[in-house]
Amino acid sequence: MTRAIIPLVPETDVALVGAGIMSATLGLMLKELNPDITIQIFERLDEPGMESSDAWNNAGTGHAAFCELNYTPILKSDGSIDTKKAAKICQDFEISREFWSYLVEKNYVKDPATFIRQVPHLSFVWGEENVGFLKKRHAKMTENILFRGMQYTEDRSQIEQWAPLIMKNRNSDAPIAATSMAIGTDVNFGELTRQLIRKLDSMPGVTVHYNIDVYDIDPHKQGGWKVETQNLLNGIKADCRARFVFLGAGGATLHLLKDAEIEERKGYGGFPVSGLWLKCKNPELIEMHNAKVYGKATVGSPPMSVPHVDTRMINGKKELLFGPFAGFSMRFLKTGSQLDLAKSFRLDNMVPMISAGLSNIPLTTYLIKQVRLTHKDRVKSLQEYVPVARLEDWELQKAGQRVQVIKKDEGRKGKLEFGTEAIVSSDGSVAALLGASPGASTAAAIMFGILPKCFPKESKADAWQSKLKEMAPSWGVDLTKEESQLAATRSRTTRTLKL
Ligand SMILES: Cc1cc2nc3c(=O)[nH]c(=O)nc-3n(C[C@H](O)[C@H](O)[C@H](O)COP(=O)(O)OP(=O)(O)OC[C@H]3O[C@@H](n4cnc5c(N)ncnc54)[C@H](O)[C@@H]3O)c2cc1C
Repeated sequence: MTRAIIPLVPETDVALVGAGIMSATLGLMLKELNPDITIQIFERLDEPGMESSDAWNNAGTGHAAFCELNYTPILKSDGSIDTKKAAKICQDFEISREFWSYLVEKNYVKDPATFIRQVPHLSFVWGEENVGFLKKRHAKMTENILFRGMQYTEDRSQIEQWAPLIMKNRNSDAPIAATSMAIGTDVNFGELTRQLIRKLDSMPGVTVHYNIDVYDIDPHKQGGWKVETQNLLNGIKADCRARFVFLGAGGATLHLLKDAEIEERKGYGGFPVSGLWLKCKNPELIEMHNAKVYGKATVGSPPMSVPHVDTRMINGKKELLFGPFAGFSMRFLKTGSQLDLAKSFRLDNMVPMISAGLSNIPLTTYLIKQVRLTHKDRVKSLQEYVPVARLEDWELQKAGQRVQVIKKDEGRKGKLEFGTEAIVSSDGSVAALLGASPGASTAAAIMFGILPKCFPKESKADAWQSKLKEMAPSWGVDLTKEESQLAATRSRTTRTLKL
């Protein structure tokens, strides 16, 4: 569909760059908090939610850190399992569930089944050491009320009940173990994004521009920011003024952040990692599996490469994916340019970028090995999880592009981060989102964190405070200590989201 070209509105309160899940979430929150606010959304593609947020480009996990083993590292100091990060992610996901429930109650989105389903989350490991780890992890996790209900077993017939596909023809007698959390979810973030952007587009004071690339933002002489754009269909350049700019351009946010004249951009760099899935073509296998089964990343591999065998619901159809396999690409977006990485080198991030590169040689080696994998090699990895996997039942599917954050560490060298990071200018007039994990699942909590920094006065006002509470009653509450509130919010969101 070719969209009509809409002229830029010369002045708006807010400019959202990119129409992915992050801009969609922030835009809707702002409009709820202040119905009079004016917003322009700029998207370089001709549809919203088609980059990382699209269902085929991410794993669709509602990251609550139930079973993703990379969120519970072993502490080097005493060998204990650190569950702090998992607890934070889990609470942030409750905020997303509350915000999405609010959207459902307001009829802003269609039937929740169009974007979220309950799919049990499982961890599955083999070998004595890993079994020991999982047992210890389960004991530690279930001390926290957030993770109560998580089941642990080493019993093969129990695992077979939870995940028959994983156990079919599993002849090895190596010890195995699994944990299961029935309340896990699969989320179609692309569909949710498109519904939110459509809703925003229908609201007064909101204009959504497609095929428009934002190539720079500069301080405007009358205050605020000059947003400089180019129409990708006819090459015509135009600009407008915005009081507040959110850079939600996914992997490409880094470029725009580097061009924005704010002190906070300094030292940031990025390292792109591409992804691939094995997509199942055999309906019998797809039907047999109903879970998201997370394994343990192999030694030397980055945390986001934890393999998983995933039931997905994409466009109303059940799918089965395995991966992600990592790859190296110099693009910052799936639809980006091979020059993206080179373009991101600046004087202020040269040292962090080079030093992060040098101290992550094992990651580079891992990526090179991944790039060289053949279809047969990939199916062999899959067979560790699905012993009955055959070459002809699986095909490659390209996933989205992640840009891992590189930033200065205390020693002013560089370190590679695997999380999501919000950067806000000191005057609060620009915010940018870098990184990809836990990403989309925690979009609502990320935006709740950004709002008081960018709209400090309004955020303190009673009207905003009560609206914020209405959108996410658990924001600011430590759910690990509030058993009845946790139970109440889970029960409400389970009902509203029809899980
Ligand atoms: C392989 C993979 C697996 C993942 N798995 C999960 C998961 O299981 N669960 C989870 O919660 N998260 C997951 N993530 C992360 C999640 O996908 C991202 O955190 C989230 O989609 C980011 O949303 P966004 O809106 O910031 O970016 P995007 O969805 O990428 O949107 C950015 C938009 O900005 C547009 N844009 C870019 N540059 C410009 C410009 N200059 N001008 C105008 N428009 C521009 C792009 O076209 C795009 O539409 C995964 C990511 C990947 C890559």
